[in-house]
Amino acid sequence: PRHGKPAAAADVDELLGGLLAPGMDRRSCRSRHQLHRYFKHFPYAPSPHLLSKLRAYESLHRRCAPGTPLYADAISRLRSGLGAAAAGEESCSYMVWLPFDGLGNRMLSMASGFLYALLTGRVFLAAVPPDSADLFCEPFPNATWLLPVEDFPVANLFGLGPRPDHSLTRLLAKNKIPVAGADGDLPAASNATVPAYVYLSLGWQKTDLRPFFCGENQRALAKVSWLLLYSDLYFAPSLYKIAGFHGELRRMFPEREATAHLLLRYLLHPGNAVWGLVTRYYGAYLAPANRRVGVQIRMSAAGDDHVPAGDKYNQILACSRQENNILPETTADGDAGAGASNLTTTSGGSSDDGGDNGNSTAILVASLFAEYYERLRSRYYEHAAVTGAAAAWVGVFQPTHEEVQATGKLEHNRKALAEIYLLSFSDELVTSGLSTFGYVSAGLAGVRPTILLTAFGHKVPEPPCRRAVSMEPCNLTPPPDVKCRAKFVDEEDLTRHLKICEDWTKGVKLY
Ligand code: GDP
Repeated sequence: PRHGKPAAAADVDELLGGLLAPGMDRRSCRSRHQLHRYFKHFPYAPSPHLLSKLRAYESLHRRCAPGTPLYADAISRLRSGLGAAAAGEESCSYMVWLPFDGLGNRMLSMASGFLYALLTGRVFLAAVPPDSADLFCEPFPNATWLLPVEDFPVANLFGLGPRPDHSLTRLLAKNKIPVAGADGDLPAASNATVPAYVYLSLGWQKTDLRPFFCGENQRALAKVSWLLLYSDLYFAPSLYKIAGFHGELRRMFPEREATAHLLLRYLLHPGNAVWGLVTRYYGAYLAPANRRVGVQIRMSAAGDDHVPAGDKYNQILACSRQENNILPETTADGDAGAGASNLTTTSGGSSDDGGDNGNSTAILVASLFAEYYERLRSRYYEHAAVTGAAAAWVGVFQPTHEEVQATGKLEHNRKALAEIYLLSFSDELVTSGLSTFGYVSAGLAGVRPTILLTAFGHKVPEPPCRRAVSMEPCNLTPPPDVKCRAKFVDEEDLTRHLKICEDWTKGVKLY
């Protein structure tokens, strides 16, 4: 097609500069080799160190994946309650991802959990529930990332919640986990005493945040073969605080802002069902434009974010004006004179231009509700749009308005994921504060979004929005600021790269 293929994308190979492993099956996951044609931005190439970590990870994954003898050994140790393999015996250790919360939350906890697995030599397996069965492709070559849930010795895997008996905090309280001294060393002979698995509750409830992100407990955790991760957070920023990980992270991500961007593009590719939705919609509505702007409208789940729709709509327009007219301005009246004269002088009336005058914008609205789409569409129908002095053609599109979040339903989740990817093909993004749905779109897109601020206490925020300092997601619930026994990394270096989030003063983000 003539349209929608930006010059930048043409220079990028389908494996994203070596980020993706070569030789994987194309038909079972069409998006993997096609996504590069849709993304508009490629701001960061993966570092050589990240590439070598990923290739080494892939071969580890092949040796330890379900179906291998090493996996069978690890499962039988878990079944018999044994903590670690005998000394000298080859063994694998695992991080099992469990679903928690909405799709954006899940994608961020996957990226964070996978990063932790990379840092600690663990194998990352996903316990994918039926509501997400075909959302994502297998990410690793020649081995599955799916945990065989039915045969897993821990029962009721999807129903354990934030505070089961085997959570890190409970196990520490019961002295089931050896506690390291200030030097980080464990007491001798602690191997035999580690539990067969530890449940890490690293969600907004904060259950295990403090002990997990204290470096001293990482030594003991390294001896545990099975970690079960229950989290809805992007916790990569907190991993930078653990002294043992800091250097490795810097080498993997010399540009910290690229952390989630590269992890998400590496790990997550929509399955064929979702990719069908994405490409059909993009081809029909978004590809013909010269410029695509994604607008994601989300009311915070916190509940006090609700303001009348008219106020919210005005906030969006005020934000656009503040940020250099991300959404094209309109003339006061409905006069299309400027547009018509411009069309004849610049396009020469050639229908080959698609009648778009070289200045067309597609606005993609993602929201559970239709009202902002309706208002924006009417705006550009009733008024002529201009960008600079030139007339602009503006199309407004919204794939769905599901009205309610229905995370337990596969059909609903497919559409939600399709919209996350459609947003990620934007040239520019306006997202909603506190929304992981928006964070993931911006990270995938490689765009620093303009973030609409939350209407705390039902008050329309002023300013209406802020331009993000980085494309990184906010860690909305960082660990409480309690002194750990193990020394933190160089605080000064950390504060240079960790900032309070634009949309949440209790959150931190990398930049
Ligand atoms: P967050 O709650 O904004 O942080 O984002 P999550 O993705 O974690 O959870 C919100 C869920 O609500 C999504 O996963 C969808 O199921 C649904 N949802 C929210 N906004 C949209 C939207 O714009 N489009 C669609 N299709 N679903 C949405």
